[in-house]
Amino acid sequence: MTISVKNLPVSEVKCSNCQACCCSSEVIIISDTGVPDRHIYVDVHGNESMLRLDDGWCSALDRDTLLCSIYENRPWVCREFGMGSNECIDERIEKM
Ligand code: SF4
Ligand code: SF4
Repeated sequence: MTISVKNLPVSEVKCSNCQACCCSSEVIIISDTGVPDRHIYVDVHGNESMLRLDDGWCSALDRDTLLCSIYENRPWVCREFGMGSNECIDERIEKM
């Protein structure tokens, strides 16, 4: 029997068996954590968010490893997004 990754018990929900689902969501930048300018999108009102490329993923995501290339400087929203949280599981169900 094959068990879909998205139906894993919460204890087995890990970024290492994910496809960086949450990194294709809008990430608002609300504080200065040192995100490099080249990864920041500024809208007409001056609001900042993580730039997303044509494939839908955040521009700071390493496409080969599916890991964050600016981990030490990632936005506050990314730091607070809990692996295995309800939001995380919702992202996996929607996108995997
Ligand atoms: S936090 Fe959740 S949705 Fe984001 S990469 Fe990790 S397992 Fe996937
Ligand atoms: S900054 Fe890093 S953790 Fe946050 S969405 Fe982009 S790649 Fe993912």
